[in-house]
Amino acid sequence: MSRNLFCDRLRSKRACVAGRTRRKDSMSKKRSIETTCIQGGWHPENGEARVLPIYQSTTFKYSTSEQMGRLFDLEENGYFYTRLANPTNDAVAEKICEMEGGAAAMLTSSGQAANFYSVFNICSAGDHFICAATVYGGTSNLFTVTMKKMGIEVTLVDPESTDEELDAAFRPNTKCVFGESIANPALVVLDIEKFARAAHRHGVPLIVDNTFATPINCRPFEWGADIVTHSTTKYMDGHAMSVGGCIVDSGNFDWEAHKDKFPGLTQPDASYHGVVYTEKFGKGAYITKATAQVMRDLGSIQAPMNAFLLNVGLETLHLRVPRHCENALKAAKYLKSREDVAWVNYPGLEGDRYYELAQKYMPKGTCGVISFGLKGGREAAGVFMDKLKLAAIVTHVADARTCVLHPASHTHRQLTDEQLAEAGVDPSMIRLSVGIENADDIIEDIRQALED
Ligand code: PLP
Repeated sequence: MSRNLFCDRLRSKRACVAGRTRRKDSMSKKRSIETTCIQGGWHPENGEARVLPIYQSTTFKYSTSEQMGRLFDLEENGYFYTRLANPTNDAVAEKICEMEGGAAAMLTSSGQAANFYSVFNICSAGDHFICAATVYGGTSNLFTVTMKKMGIEVTLVDPESTDEELDAAFRPNTKCVFGESIANPALVVLDIEKFARAAHRHGVPLIVDNTFATPINCRPFEWGADIVTHSTTKYMDGHAMSVGGCIVDSGNFDWEAHKDKFPGLTQPDASYHGVVYTEKFGKGAYITKATAQVMRDLGSIQAPMNAFLLNVGLETLHLRVPRHCENALKAAKYLKSREDVAWVNYPGLEGDRYYELAQKYMPKGTCGVISFGLKGGREAAGVFMDKLKLAAIVTHVADARTCVLHPASHTHRQLTDEQLAEAGVDPSMIRLSVGIENADDIIEDIRQALED
């Protein structure tokens, strides 16, 4: 297993930057995800910083002009400009890569950038892709509005579509399928195997946004997904400190077997003297192209300082995620037991529409996010939220602190009730992101806001 192979090629120069050889990674050894959370990515040797250093440098020094030229040609290993690669970012990407069981990974400035790059890396004007209709609103807008302006078309499909319905959505120019392992805020659990089978029947990869489940609860590659993305802004950072994203490639999709569909990977890249990514980088082809070409040209790099903070968050992910799930299950059960609550969605709750799928794909737990509606509807939602004392009203989910949002009044404010229904957002929907405080305190906060 390795991270971004573009950077992998740069490892020996990282040796120069860091003052030692870095070939001796422990990445190839199998170890538990808990250990990877703590120890993955940064492997200091004798006399080096124990904690991942922040390489707060835009650039890296070389002795000769010739050497620098070879770096630009991807002919020699070495860091040269942080927009393309930075040792702090690489170490964090390597950790997430190992957690997901991938072959190569890269960080991006945000989850939006990760999702955009993941599709744009293999789709150009005139191409088409398929996406589960329940994905996060920001992703859906990116795909249906912004990418449409670039000439890339998307078909949104019901995640509960049958095989036949999925097959019908494919076209000769379809290049990938996209879905979220747990949809935000619909909390729909994706049938990853069904979507992977459909994608592979048509010779294209499945991309799964694994933000809500995290690799602690779900590893989409084990179910046939080919590429995983993350908004690391959420549980991975975990403390609402830094916006970020990540793309991980399993290395399993055979681009060469579908050569004509993916010319960007399988034919010479004129901007790198005719390099053919699949030939030169093997399992690292997809991430190397996304780095050397898409990141080079669009520049949505994660700041090394943010990568450092993300790494601190990752070190406790395996402790925080189970606690989020435990607290959310208790809160969901409490909400379900109340007369004034009309409905509760939580895939970890027995009887939930997606409970069975959640048991299959994420038996250890789902996520900390619950959505529910009060019998008093939209108006009651506002009153309830204003009375909360511990849970804060914020535009965020998935951090250590319990927080709440009313999509119809906030993220989807511009929509009429009819448009809300189309987007699958009930006007009464309250999205509660359950934190890792004491569960009794969270439930007491909900109780007092409903009763007092
Ligand atoms: N994917 C999912 C599932 C999300 O919930 C979000 C944001 O809420 C994003 C992607 C976008 O991530 P970011 O806000 O880091 O750009």
